[in-house]
Amino acid sequence: MQFDAELLLLAMAPVFLACIGWEAWHLRRTRPGAQLYSWRDTLCNAALALMQQAADKLAWLAIIPVYAFFYEHYRVHTWPATWVSFIVLFVAQDLLYYVFHRCSHRVRWLWAAHVVHHSSERMNFSTAFRQSLMYPIAGMWLFWIPLAVLGFAPKQIVAIVLINLGFQFFVHTQAIGKLGWLEYVLNTPSIHRVHHARNDRYIDRNYAGVLVIWDRLFGSYVDEDSRDAPVYGIVEPLHTYNPLKATFHEWASMAADFASVHGWRNKWRALFAPPAWAAEFHAHRAATAPLSNDVSEGGARGQSGIGENHTSAFQTQRRP
Ligand SMILES: [Zn+2]
Ligand SMILES: [Zn+2]
Repeated sequence: MQFDAELLLLAMAPVFLACIGWEAWHLRRTRPGAQLYSWRDTLCNAALALMQQAADKLAWLAIIPVYAFFYEHYRVHTWPATWVSFIVLFVAQDLLYYVFHRCSHRVRWLWAAHVVHHSSERMNFSTAFRQSLMYPIAGMWLFWIPLAVLGFAPKQIVAIVLINLGFQFFVHTQAIGKLGWLEYVLNTPSIHRVHHARNDRYIDRNYAGVLVIWDRLFGSYVDEDSRDAPVYGIVEPLHTYNPLKATFHEWASMAADFASVHGWRNKWRALFAPPAWAAEFHAHRAATAPLSNDVSEGGARGQSGIGENHTSAFQTQRRP
């Protein structure tokens, strides 16, 4: 019987749960009072994982034929079943994951799905479960099409994507410190703690999936500094443990912003600018709301008054 790669993460569930149990026990002993786990947060994470797994299972049904199309008609090579082929697939997918992940922090449309993963203010193994069922809508699967063109079969693509995600479970912990020379090669807990932090020095850094070499090559690497402990979460906090709200809040916010801003340039920004655009827009709207409400003329309900005069204020980006 052939192993179904789509079930890889479910098959690893006992390992994941054992890690969570060990970590919760270990942290209670070593950092009493730190309360790094909360039942409500962990249950929300688990619900998000189940929702995402169900959506993924459905999504693969539609996506695999797309990969098959590119594999059949546009592949540039046919790889033999060897370790070399596996290593090429693994490295290529990990690089594409880096690109996908970096884009997910720079393009609001993708961030709307990825924000779910970052919206907890805790960091533990269960945080890895926080995923969005909206990834297929956001278009995560588009990033793996080059693998089909490179000559990898759809099942191989699904398998390597899930292996990559499976590895990433293990970097979501505060129970493990720096890991010596591995910090130069692999994504580690220390490196990924930085990625989940919203401190100025850490935000939008360390996008690695499995290999950290991409961050070091492309200038997005930052070391965890013991004098600046990571503060976890997002710039505009969520304040809910409801998995549905966690999944859809950014999509709703994006749709509302799209509807309320004036001009196609601003509408484009509402969908595709870096998330910092939205944070600045919301701050601006909050600051000017009383003024806008006083002016009854023109404008639909909820419009912030952002228009041509204010456009430039929302061109700034979080990172160059
Ligand atoms: Zn991220
Ligand atoms: Zn993470």
